Amino acid sequence: MSKSKSSESIKVVVRCRPMNEKEKAAKFEMVVSVDVKLGQIIVRNPREAAANEHPKVFTYDSVYDWNSKQIDLYDETFRPLVDSVLLGFNGTIFAYGQTGTGKTYTMEGVRNDPERRGVIPNSFEHVFTHISRSQNQQYLVRASYLEIYQEEIKDLLSKDQTRRLELRERPDTGVYVKDLSSFVTKSVREIEHVMNVGNQNRSVGATNMNEHSSRSHAIFVITVECSELGVDGENHIRVGKLNLVDLAGSERQTKTGAQGERLKEATKINLSLSALGNVISSLVDGRSSHIPYRDSKLTRLLQDSLGGNARTVMVANIGPASYNLEETLTTLRYSNRAK
Ligand code: ADP
Ligand code: MG
Repeated sequence: MSKSKSSESIKVVVRCRPMNEKEKAAKFEMVVSVDVKLGQIIVRNPREAAANEHPKVFTYDSVYDWNSKQIDLYDETFRPLVDSVLLGFNGTIFAYGQTGTGKTYTMEGVRNDPERRGVIPNSFEHVFTHISRSQNQQYLVRASYLEIYQEEIKDLLSKDQTRRLELRERPDTGVYVKDLSSFVTKSVREIEHVMNVGNQNRSVGATNMNEHSSRSHAIFVITVECSELGVDGENHIRVGKLNLVDLAGSERQTKTGAQGERLKEATKINLSLSALGNVISSLVDGRSSHIPYRDSKLTRLLQDSLGGNARTVMVANIGPASYNLEETLTTLRYSNRAK
């Protein structure tokens, strides 16, 4: 298959988390195997009725099993994208998957444990290390943190957490969030502090944080501005933007028999995830002239960081146990289509 330019700028990887204690105790079968060399995820259906079925095989840019180390994902998959942001390009990293499969583990991980730190803290370290080693450039790093819940945008760094923000568009700068706050940060500690403030605001008002995070998208944005004196004697400025996105859970929200408000909410969550899938697959396809960015807040907001010169990595997270079989297959198909 010939790779188009856009498929090189979009990578889809799959990560399977380990069995947890509960699953081990309940003796659930493992239905997922991971072939790291071939980049394949193999799923078999353990039901007797399916005994003659061939295992299903899906191929991705890379795959990571339950032993995968955070730092290996970072070095192999995320670091090149962050490097391109430091050069002035935009980039987006998504964690996709059913609730409980490791999206937040992949994005944030365990922040006070260097071995289990996720991509967000690792990118903080990467960016500020790069800046401290630079000689002829001057950098300005800004951070924003927002959430999309029910197709409404909330600034997680604002004092007023009841306020909802609007998307606007300008011919010169494109789509932006009106009045979104951003903070200049000069060190890892400062940007970590910004993230902590946002995380606290995110949990305030949520009676059940797990439920809330399974229904909303969290987007941490780092903007890196670099100015450098060119050979022409003029100052040149380049700006790169890194979007770090912990998506809402991909489980079918409608299957639980939700009604009224809940059903409306469920429909909206599924809408933005399917809009994202459509945007990514039409970018990968490379043939369609129309990319449906306008179909959701999420895709509109990220329009300048998806496609074109931007780089994208989607990490599809799955669990290994038999009772998740259906959701696992749904995630694998979604991300296979995105590829
Ligand atoms: P999600 O954000 O998708 O709902 P979490 O990231 O909260 O899922 O993960 C659910 C649980 O599984 C957490 O306790 C997390 O620490 C654990 N977990 C997820 N992925 C891994 C992994 N790759 N290695 C070890 N533990 C993991
Ligand atoms: Mg989570």
